[in-house]
Amino acid sequence: MTLEGTGQETTSSNEMSRQKDTGIRRIYLDNAASTTIMDEVLNEMLPYLTTHYGNPSSLHALGYESNKAIKLARKRVSSIIGAKPSEIIFTGSGTEADNIAIKGAAYYLRKHNPYRNHVITSAIEHDAVMESCLDLENNGFEVSYLPVNRDGLVDKGKLVESISEKTALVSIMLANNEIGTIQPIQELVRIVRERSEDILFHTDAVQGLGKIHINCKKLGVDLMSLSSHKINGPKGVGGLYLREGSKVISLTSGGGQEKDLRSGTENVHGIVGFGKACEMLIQRIDSINNGIRRLRDILVKGIVNEIPSARYNGPSDSGIRLPNIAHFTFLGINGEDLLIKLDEYGIAASTGSACSVRKQKESHVLRAMGFALPEISGSLRLSLGPYNTEDEIDHVIGILKVTVAELREVSPLRNTSH
Ligand code: PLP
Repeated sequence: MTLEGTGQETTSSNEMSRQKDTGIRRIYLDNAASTTIMDEVLNEMLPYLTTHYGNPSSLHALGYESNKAIKLARKRVSSIIGAKPSEIIFTGSGTEADNIAIKGAAYYLRKHNPYRNHVITSAIEHDAVMESCLDLENNGFEVSYLPVNRDGLVDKGKLVESISEKTALVSIMLANNEIGTIQPIQELVRIVRERSEDILFHTDAVQGLGKIHINCKKLGVDLMSLSSHKINGPKGVGGLYLREGSKVISLTSGGGQEKDLRSGTENVHGIVGFGKACEMLIQRIDSINNGIRRLRDILVKGIVNEIPSARYNGPSDSGIRLPNIAHFTFLGINGEDLLIKLDEYGIAASTGSACSVRKQKESHVLRAMGFALPEISGSLRLSLGPYNTEDEIDHVIGILKVTVAELREVSPLRNTSH
């Protein structure tokens, strides 16, 4: 089925066939990690995997077809964030966009003025930003990591204090991937601009894209990272908004594609899919997200009311949190044990960032927000998408009630539950 209308009562055909394959009812609540591809997106991509295989740089009809398709996708991606098509660079992922933005900008600015070797970021960024900053530190940069409060909001006073004549770049995420907190980027940009017009401002908008209205001009940022697979588009494609006039150095050498910033033959079908996913969202962003928010609210209410000492984390003001992410702490249990149990019931969830889980490290985001270790270990992120239904949410509340109680019964951590 398609995402026409609100998209709330429907399942993508890809999702349906997966459910048929596995034979059990699957409920997917890990949409912040990745999403199912929309049918309309897949259909638009298919010709570029079969008949339209030309290299977009080639000077023949098949090449022109691919080139034309990329142009259309660039227009669609730019329009969802209020940019000009010429300001979009296609990348291989949101991670790559973060790398080009942060390292590319920092190295560019230091090359032109060796004194400018300071970068400011927040303590709750995604690993793509954190590791890029670490890389800069290993290469002679100084990085300030701004603290956040219990809701995950960046300390504005500390931002003011951290800016110096040496500051080249500020990178603060638009919305957090674990908790869903939305930063007041427009205000943070204003704070930076008041101190200096020369400092570049980057925001990682990977989680915000498609969930809230984004206008890069209104926000005033110079650089913005985007990713396709979080918005029901294909994996392996991302985008970097590079404001006209802003400069970064290239991290890849090669054929000079994407304004020499991302050499390598373009992932045409991926780019086409990303463009289509953006186009699908432009008209429906409010209806889809109002539906998701309504389900999120039912989920939160059910969990908080029905599970003893369950805590809903992050801002209570829904204006500063994404509509799709709900984060909880169940003291007295281990979040990974809970994930395994939920998976047995066919429910896909997460304790937080997929990267942190893979590296088996505790969440630096929750740490920075002041969570104690038992709160971090008992955490669960449920992230919704346009294909979830109210019936699924009711089912998940019931399953969680039972599994949390069962795990608390046998948990060595049970004395920390109250
Ligand atoms: N930034 C944020 C905030 C994210 O949540 C993610 C992915 O989870 C990324 C960057 C990386 O995006 P990608 O998976 O496209 O590399």
